[in-house]
Amino acid sequence: MIGILGGTFDPIHFGHLRPALEIVEILTLDELRFIPSATPPHRWQPEASAQQRLEMVELAIKDVPQFSLDNREYQREGASYTVDTLQSIRDEIGKNTPLCMILGMDAFSSFTQWHQWQKILTLCHIVISSRPNYDNRLIDNKMGNWIQQHLCEDPALLSQSSAGKLYFCDVTQLDISATEIRQTIKRTKSPRYLTSKNVVNYIQSNDLYKD
Ligand code: ATP
Repeated sequence: MIGILGGTFDPIHFGHLRPALEIVEILTLDELRFIPSATPPHRWQPEASAQQRLEMVELAIKDVPQFSLDNREYQREGASYTVDTLQSIRDEIGKNTPLCMILGMDAFSSFTQWHQWQKILTLCHIVISSRPNYDNRLIDNKMGNWIQQHLCEDPALLSQSSAGKLYFCDVTQLDISATEIRQTIKRTKSPRYLTSKNVVNYIQSNDLYKD
């Protein structure tokens, strides 16, 4: 079973890494691919370049054997829609391999505004990780019905089909965001212990996120 975690990763931090590791263990994933977004369609443009965000992900994940970097969005021209990324992964791994897309609760709460959101569950399962300050009260009624139809409460069942289920996964709550890290650096404070040491060193040696 393969997992994917997409994000801007501007920069990657422990709020991505610790939940990702816990999800690998809870779901017994063979591999978890981190997919930095090149041109995020839903938000402002990142401060670090796509190449820099990719290099920071590479540094942060290198000691965990199940973690890998997938740069397919970086290589694609134009806006990177999740549905296109999932289709290209599906084309690569075939139709029978279980695929789980991991989303934080904040990202999931606006899921019905995503491009071709209903097609996404035909391509993968969605694993929603808890995130501090975001809970399921953010989910509206329309989404509530759809969730009930696809909800799965036992993570062991995810490996029995390739796509189509929603699983809510409780992970350690780390109230860390990339926004907070960028603001911390702009205030000339240290981002240490919010992300890995080699990412902190990379940020400093590339003069990232300063005003
Ligand atoms: P920004 O502050 O720049 O918006 P971010 O910290 O939210 O960035 P992203 O790269 O946008 O990070 O997030 C990628 C994915 O990781 C999203 O699905 C998001 O919900 C999830 N995520 C980010 N931070 C956390 C956290 N602290 N706990 C759980 N999930 C998180």
